Amino acid sequence: MDDCIFCKIVNEKTPADIVYRDEKFIVFKDINPKSPLHLLIIPKKHIHSVNHLKEQDRELIGELFLLAQKIAKNQGVDETGYKLVFNVGRGGGQLIDHLHLHLLGGWGSQKERDIPGMP
Ligand code: AMP
Ligand code: ZN
Repeated sequence: MDDCIFCKIVNEKTPADIVYRDEKFIVFKDINPKSPLHLLIIPKKHIHSVNHLKEQDRELIGELFLLAQKIAKNQGVDETGYKLVFNVGRGGGQLIDHLHLHLLGGWGSQKERDIPGMP
């Protein structure tokens, strides 16, 4: 997709702080991080959103989650914990129409966070 910013990152027409790349996915730092560690995991293939997934994408999505697990471990947040988020559609907060999984973490463990009301 010519007018897609994430396709441009995939095709190296727009710079990004890429932390991982393979034949199917790239992972890069979010330009406006909402947490100490905020990465975006995207398939190179242009898929608009979760709403646009097809049966043929089943394997790709499985691999995407296994990659998220691997990246979390590599980034050292697998023990402390992290969030995986797909925003879907404008009402769901999706601004970029190329499927991306947010990986958010780096706050430390729940105990360290000491959030009132949290067990
Ligand atoms: P969403 O709101 O789920 O569509 O998330 C899009 C995310 O992409 C936001 O968190 C943005 O900060 C991030 N973002 C937008 N443009 C870039 C870019 N050029 N490089 C890295 N992250 C970006
Ligand atoms: Zn795209």
